Amino acid sequence: MECVLCGNDSFEDLSDTDAKTSEKLRVSLCQKCGLIQQNPIPTTEELQEYYSHNYRVDYKKSYTPKPKHIYRAGKAALQRLEFLKEEGIYEGRLLDIGAGGGEFVYLSGALGYRSQGVDPNIGYSEYAKNEYNCELTTGELDAIQGKYDIITLYHVLEHLPCPLHAFNKLYNLLNQGGTLSVEVPWIEANDASPHNIFFKAHLFYFSVDSLIACASKYFEVLKIDTNNNLSILFKAKQNISEIEYPSQQSVNKLKNRLKSKGWIEYLFKGKGIQKPLRNFIRGFEESKALNHQPKEILDNLLHKAG
Ligand SMILES: [Zn+2]
Repeated sequence: MECVLCGNDSFEDLSDTDAKTSEKLRVSLCQKCGLIQQNPIPTTEELQEYYSHNYRVDYKKSYTPKPKHIYRAGKAALQRLEFLKEEGIYEGRLLDIGAGGGEFVYLSGALGYRSQGVDPNIGYSEYAKNEYNCELTTGELDAIQGKYDIITLYHVLEHLPCPLHAFNKLYNLLNQGGTLSVEVPWIEANDASPHNIFFKAHLFYFSVDSLIACASKYFEVLKIDTNNNLSILFKAKQNISEIEYPSQQSVNKLKNRLKSKGWIEYLFKGKGIQKPLRNFIRGFEESKALNHQPKEILDNLLHKAG
């Protein structure tokens, strides 16, 4: 296989097993640029086959998320909007790609954006329209048209077969100097259980440097946040440039970082040992949402946030 980012063909294997199914799954790190990728990247046909079997619920015509999931998604949406606001971004034509049940589209719209969403799964758009009266369409990234001031992409990029292609498409969808907010799982984080990292649904595992490199032809970095996920706010470049690859030093640093991950780090530095308690508290918080309608759950969060 050739690296999707740099074309090099020398890899270091990181995993041979899918954490969910225990089936064979080869994940490798490119020795030259450090991009971690499934090896080989599945074909479009294989991806479609996979999603039609493993994400079956998404293909149902009707879609009804549980109140606790709406509550969770709403809380995450408000944090993501705060991330934008800190950089002075609080209005404009916004597109949320991978919009799911529409929580982010609804809340961003309520806070002043002209928001739209798109999701590949049938049923979501109908749901968002009925519950929140917001605009969501069904479709894949390649089919999207129009021009936007802000595009948001939360936990989507790692599912797409070519990040370079995705950033090219996103660049073309943005107005001059437009903003792109990307959030992905962070491979360098210390709060993921070592037995719960590599999945067939994820084609890429990003470090700060590899995500920046994938975007570098079209985007410059405005802000980076690494809490447990990796969030980067990008600004569209005025002129497209050459890809800026991570240095060999950066690749070596990432390799060493991955070697130091383990149970000790997860349980103590990553606070894995407190996870049962945190889950209990979260369950208690979410239980308050149980008897409310979807829109009420989000409106309550909005009022609480002020
Ligand atoms: Zn590479």
